[in-house]
Amino acid sequence: MKTIGIIGGMSYESSIHYYERINKQVNEIMGDLNCAQLLIYNVNFQEIRKRMLEGKWDEIGNILVSIAKTLERAGADAIVIATNTIHKVADYVELEISVPLIHIADAVSIKCQEKDVTNVGLIGTRYTMEENFIIDRLARNGIKAIVPEDKNDISSIDRIIFDELCKGQIKKESKEEYLNIINKMIKNNHIEGIILGCTEIEMLIKEEDLDIPIFDTTQSHIDAIVNYCLNER
Ligand code: GLU
Repeated sequence: MKTIGIIGGMSYESSIHYYERINKQVNEIMGDLNCAQLLIYNVNFQEIRKRMLEGKWDEIGNILVSIAKTLERAGADAIVIATNTIHKVADYVELEISVPLIHIADAVSIKCQEKDVTNVGLIGTRYTMEENFIIDRLARNGIKAIVPEDKNDISSIDRIIFDELCKGQIKKESKEEYLNIINKMIKNNHIEGIILGCTEIEMLIKEEDLDIPIFDTTQSHIDAIVNYCLNER
């Protein structure tokens, strides 16, 4: 079995799900006392968030590269960045390490391709929605991602992620807000599915809440990691 080096803590609310489900899924496939070989480097998210707000992405990139190298030296066969947003520095990390990086956008692309969905909505942090690091990677895989048109919707989605979901707060009114925005995208942009492009959104929005398929980046990433661990792909 391969060893996976996970850079987590962004936020720890979603990293918990990575830890729990990767082990569970490996155990379901292999049985007995089998679980995953994981190295987890949990960052102090406050230190990263501070730099995000200051626009110091070079520093974030350097921190991530240093952690990825630490995990590689410790025996990781592949590196995982357990958040969409920090994939903004994924290309840089990928260049600096000699093991593969299991990219979250590639993982969710596989799920879209399996359902033959190419026209999808994408919600996540402001960085994920307004910049190209996830959108371009999806496009490379034949997936056209559409983000909310209204700047107020982008701000609202982003605020709920950092002020509530990353702190483990699940609020009914925030769920309604998300569903309104997604339903607006179904009506106006004719999206065929929605990518939950932030690893905490799955705590708020569930499959049964919508009439279109949900492509959750957390679960997609976990499935890709399990496949890699067990060398099935
Ligand atoms: N976990 C989130 C994501 O998937 C947001 C927190 C972060 O900025 O890393 O984008």
